Amino acid sequence: MISPEGGPVDEAEESATTGSAATQVLRRIFGYDTFREGQGEIIEHVVDGGDALVLMPTGGGKSLCYQIPSLVRPGVGVVISPLIALMQDQVDALTALGVRAGFLNSTQGIDERQAVEACFVAGEIDLLYLAPERLRVESTLRLLDRGKISLFAIDEAHCVAQWGHDFRPDYLALSTLHERWPEVPRVALTATATPATHAEIASRLNLENARHFVASFDRPNIQYRIVPKNEPKRQLLDLLRNEHRGDAGIVYCLSRSSVEKIADFLTQNDIPALPYHAGLDAGTRAANQSRFLREDGLVMVATIAFGMGIDKPDVRFVAHLDLPKSVEGYYQETGRAGRDGLPSTAWLAYGLQDVVQQRRLIETSEGDDTHRRRLGTHLDAMLALCETIDCRRVRLLDYFGQRARPCGNCDTCLTPPESWDGTIPAQKLLSTVFRLHRERRQKFGAGQVVDILLGRKTDKVLQHDHASLTVFGIGTDLREAEWRGIVRQLLAQGLLTVEGDYGTLVLTDASADVLRGQRQVLFRREPERKPKPSAKSTAKSAATSTTPRTAPTAADLSPAALATFERLRTWRATTAKEQGVPAYVIFHDSTLREIATRTPTSLTELSQINGIGENKLTKYGQPVLDVLHS
Ligand code: ADP
Ligand code: ZN
Repeated sequence: MISPEGGPVDEAEESATTGSAATQVLRRIFGYDTFREGQGEIIEHVVDGGDALVLMPTGGGKSLCYQIPSLVRPGVGVVISPLIALMQDQVDALTALGVRAGFLNSTQGIDERQAVEACFVAGEIDLLYLAPERLRVESTLRLLDRGKISLFAIDEAHCVAQWGHDFRPDYLALSTLHERWPEVPRVALTATATPATHAEIASRLNLENARHFVASFDRPNIQYRIVPKNEPKRQLLDLLRNEHRGDAGIVYCLSRSSVEKIADFLTQNDIPALPYHAGLDAGTRAANQSRFLREDGLVMVATIAFGMGIDKPDVRFVAHLDLPKSVEGYYQETGRAGRDGLPSTAWLAYGLQDVVQQRRLIETSEGDDTHRRRLGTHLDAMLALCETIDCRRVRLLDYFGQRARPCGNCDTCLTPPESWDGTIPAQKLLSTVFRLHRERRQKFGAGQVVDILLGRKTDKVLQHDHASLTVFGIGTDLREAEWRGIVRQLLAQGLLTVEGDYGTLVLTDASADVLRGQRQVLFRREPERKPKPSAKSTAKSAATSTTPRTAPTAADLSPAALATFERLRTWRATTAKEQGVPAYVIFHDSTLREIATRTPTSLTELSQINGIGENKLTKYGQPVLDVLHS
């Protein structure tokens, strides 16, 4: 349960506070039975005119927290969002619910803009979406003065955090909203929530006196898995073919060129994939994003330029082929999976090269030492997550200052890795680095160091006369892959570091303790067996461990229901195409699954299903019954 300061709230108390106009809107317009964790309280507080800072994970249900108060309070809710490319879809989704909404941004022609402005002034819309830069323009401020504003919603509020990964200078100006409109409540929302970011948002937006709502950051339906990177392309292909055939998903890569390569590779292997990165022209980016949102089963291969605000509910997996720079970024990216609450996978492949590359990027990054240290701290936390032998979810939530019990739905819970005492191999490796430097005044990358340990007489080894070193060949008890794993883990533990353009290995202050035998080194042994494939089979146990989401999962569908579900999906795809909206704007998968399971025979029965409000019942009710009973 959510509470202003994270403590538990009584169940009865929550339902008592939400029995109002807000609940009616929830049922009638949105077609949902109950509020999700926290929504009821936040909505009540904002409806009453209070300011709020809402920290909720991606997919937690933030939109309702300002949409419902906008509908209940007199006036128009003004939503500040940095995501111009998604405003049309957001407005379309509201229109499909029968909610009157509009947006103002640079993509519009003058006629369209004037029409929206007139609706705003006349109070003929309930929600108005605005890009933050609009508020720098005096004419926008004057326009807002002419209408009645019910609330300001500041979406993606972490964009105000200057050290964050999504900083937008225009957000800084939002702190002045309450000076001009002191009586209008403000609700700021974000899914990025380390204690430091939380504090920065509050202070920059002048929300110290607002009520702060911190939801649980757990996303129980997402199965977290981090695997050693061996042959990344083949590993990715296995994941997609064996567990996510036909599913929509996102594959994140670090560079533009790897995005292009992986998208081509998937396409060649009959997996429909599109690229997305900042190097593509705006038209191609918009077209690819639009196809991803509208079509079923597409894979988006992208840099982190892609994803903020993408509220496609049925993203079934998020795969990372390169190491993310921070846990915060990683959690936000993986959170794009499974917004609909159905089982989903977050999968990351990571190897030695990632560590070397990231350390080098930090070393050569612009900015002062403090900045570099901060980047280093972020990376260390990410590495600790990768190398942990404990539950990944416990680690992730701990990063956000929240406690959890082992989840039963991550790789380390499903197939616990062991730790082993690697002090001796660590000493061998560190002393090789030490001797190269001490006796030869040379520094080398991991490849050569491992060659020396394995006693390989490669051209380079012979050229530098490494075979005469006392450490030459002292590591033949382990295989090359194991040595690379050791280098990776030493780097992750800060017992070794890299330097320069070639990623040469150097000792750290802490290495000396290991060499002197004063410090034990524990390594993670990769489990032999792969974790049980598919979140699908484990969804039930995950759902019982925390708040269950109501939708039945694929595993629950009988063959007959599955066939009906597929027929409904085909109907949905055709209808979406005709209306030019994303399929999920019509109905979510979770709603279609529930229809397929319950097979309602009348409009009244249909109206009981989650996700079917009045407007959708009127519009799509009969066609759905026709599909069911034809
Ligand atoms: P966020 O903005 O926090 O990432 P959204 O507002 O997009 O999350 O909500 C995530 C999904 O959950 C959406 O598909 C939304 O329709 C659904 N949802 C939100 N609140 C409820 C609720 N009370 N009952 C059922 N589904 C909900
Ligand atoms: Zn776990």
